[in-house]
This record gives sequence, C-alpha cells and structure tokens, in this order.
Amino acid sequence: MFTYDQIFANKKNILFVMAHPDDILVYYAALVNKLVKDKKNIYVLTVSNGARGSQKNIISEEELAKKRLDEEIAALKFLGVPKENAHSLNYKDGELESNYKLIGEVTKLIRKYKTDVVCTHEPTGIYLETYKKDGFFVQHRDHRKVAEAVVDSAYPFSRDRSFFPEHAKEGIEPHTVYDIVLTDEAKYNF
Ligand SMILES: [Zn+2]
Repeated sequence: MFTYDQIFANKKNILFVMAHPDDILVYYAALVNKLVKDKKNIYVLTVSNGARGSQKNIISEEELAKKRLDEEIAALKFLGVPKENAHSLNYKDGELESNYKLIGEVTKLIRKYKTDVVCTHEPTGIYLETYKKDGFFVQHRDHRKVAEAVVDSAYPFSRDRSFFPEHAKEGIEPHTVYDIVLTDEAKYNF
C-alpha cells in the first residue's frame, strides 16, 4: 500500500477513467478534492452514459443519461474540475468491452494530457468479498471491462509509437504513465 505522497507528490497530470457518470464521485471524490487543493491538473473520462443505471426506469434512457451526465459535470465543478476537463464517450450502459477501439480512445487522452497517473476501477475481481463479515458482491461488468482497457492503455499502448500512429499525425505524441491507481471496490459494497 502506497501513501498519497508516494504516488502523487511529484506528479502533475492525473486522468480518471470511469465506467459510469457517478463512479468518479462514489470512488474518488475525496481524492479529487485533495488533488485539486494540491493544484494538480485533473481530467475525467466517463465511458458509458449510464442510461440504464436505474432499478425503476421511470424516465427514458435518454433522460436518465442526460441527468446523470449533467449531475457528474455539476459535482466535478463543485470539486473544482472545470467542464472542459470532463469527457464522455457516451457508450451504451452495460455494453462496454475491453477492446482495441476503447484502448485507442483511452490511449489518446493519456497521451494528449501527458498523464502521470491514471485512476480507474479494479479490473480483476468478479466475485469479491466485502469488509462486512460473510459479505460478497459481484463486481459490475462495465467496471471490470473499463479497468482492463485502461490498464492496457497505460501500458504499453500509450508508450509505444507503433500503437495508434494516427495520434502523432494530430500532434499527440506517445507518453509513459508512471502509476496506475485502482479502486478498492470492496470498501464501497457493505
Ligand atoms: Zn459504475
């Protein structure tokens, strides 16, 4: 386990890549708050529009997606992250895959922002134990798929020029990420 200073003290550009519009706040609100106070450059990429993330579905998917993305932007603004630093790929909720297309999209932002540290979900666990005694939960599929693509994007795809050479034609050069931070999702599933 590393401390905040060990990971972030000498770093400047931090990119968060999350599956759904509320994930940045559920998992990383306190970290974003601290990073903003420490004058780091914060960028956020939300992969899905979150249109199906309701158990009741009393409004349309379009309305729910807009509401969730608007709420995310407002919450990030409250934390001190400007709207222009928040991006959405608008993928359909529940249909995320870790594939070459998504790796390319994440890689492009890692390179564009010269990302020192990339933060995302936990990619490996499917059936995870919570801190609660005898408690288990299923890790959301979208979280796993996004996290896998992000880890691959950070290494080696962002570093190596042979991957996605079209980025360089737009002036976006290969870049090496120093650290990857993953969520401890068990902490949030009591
Ligand atoms: Zn989520």
